[in-house]
Amino acid sequence: MTGKVAPKGASGTRATTPETGKPGQVASRAPAAKAVSSQGWEPKPPAALWRSKVLWSLVETTGYAALPSTFQDQLRAALTGTTPRSSQIQTAVANLLSSPKFVQATGKDQASFILSEMDQALPLLATYELGALSPLGAPFTLRETAALPTFEFSDRKASARVHRLELENQSIDVVVPSDGIFSPPHQHTVEEVAAAVAQLLPAARRLISQIVLSPRPLPNDERDERVPELSKDAYMTFARGGQVTIYPQPSLMAANHLAPALAHEAGHALGAEQFDGFFRALTRQGWNVWEEAMAADQLPPSKYGLKSVEEDVAETALIYLCTEGTAEFEEYRALFPRRFALLDQMMGRIPPL
Ligand SMILES: [Zn+2]
Repeated sequence: MTGKVAPKGASGTRATTPETGKPGQVASRAPAAKAVSSQGWEPKPPAALWRSKVLWSLVETTGYAALPSTFQDQLRAALTGTTPRSSQIQTAVANLLSSPKFVQATGKDQASFILSEMDQALPLLATYELGALSPLGAPFTLRETAALPTFEFSDRKASARVHRLELENQSIDVVVPSDGIFSPPHQHTVEEVAAAVAQLLPAARRLISQIVLSPRPLPNDERDERVPELSKDAYMTFARGGQVTIYPQPSLMAANHLAPALAHEAGHALGAEQFDGFFRALTRQGWNVWEEAMAADQLPPSKYGLKSVEEDVAETALIYLCTEGTAEFEEYRALFPRRFALLDQMMGRIPPL
C-alpha cells in the first residue's frame, strides 16, 4: 500500500510518499486589515482592534451558532491570530459579514459559507506559510568524500559519488550517480541541495541524514493517484533512517522549491522515527490514535495534509517543529489541539498516556 511507513527494521525501504513537482503559490503575509471594503472614508483601525470587531460581529450570527463547538473554537483562534491562514480567514469573514448573500442566508447556510472560507485559507503545503526557512542559511562546507562502485538507487544499482555536507555539528551525505546522467533530464545540483539544507531550521534539518539525487523517476507503482494534481511528477520521497530521495523532472526544477519540500520531508521523518516507539508505549496498533485526533480536530494542517494520514502527520509535525517557542505555536495549537497533544507526547514533552 502506498503512503504507509515501512515495517520496523526495513531500513532503506521507501515510505512512498511522493511529493509534487509543482508546489504552487506561496502564501502571503499581507496584513489582514487591507481588505475591508465597507470602511469607506474611515481611518483604518489597528489590526488587533479590527480583528476583535470582526470576531464579535461573527459570534452574533446564527451561522456561528450553527457550527460545531470544535469549529467555533478554531474560528475564534483564527480570528484573533496572526498566521497567514488566520489573516486570510479574517479577511474572508469580514467580507462575508458585509455580503447580502451571507446576511440573508439561514444559519445552516451561513455555517457552510464560513467552513468553506476556512477550507480555502489552507496553504497547499504548511511550509509555505511557516516562514521557517532562513533565506541566508547556515554556513556549510561541501566536499566529495567517496566513490561507491555500487549504490542502490530507486530503480537500479549504479556507481555513485558521495558528497559530504557539513554544517553546525551535523553532516549529511548527498549521493549522486557517477555518470551524472538523469532521465528525464532535469535534476537539482549538489550545490543547490546544500544551499537548501542550510536554509532549514536545525530542528527540521537534524531529521535528515542522507539525500539521494535519483537518476530516474519514482517507479510508477509507487505513485499515489488519490490527489492527481499532486501526484503527476513525484518530486521527493522519504525513507526510514532519514533518507530523502529527489527525482528528476521533465522541466526545469526551481531551486526555491527545494527547501520547502525538504522541510516537508523532515515532517515525515518525525512521523516515521517517533511513531513506532510512541505507539508501542500506547500499546495501540497503527495510526489509530492519530486518526482519532484528526477526527476530533477536523481542520487539516494544509491541503496536502488531506492526502493521507501520513501527510497529515508530516504537515502537522512540521508546523509544531518550526513554530515551537514562537507566539504562533499557541495559535496552531488552538487550531489542532488534539494533534498537538499527541505531538507533545511524541516529542517527550509529557509522558505517554
Ligand atoms: Zn509527504
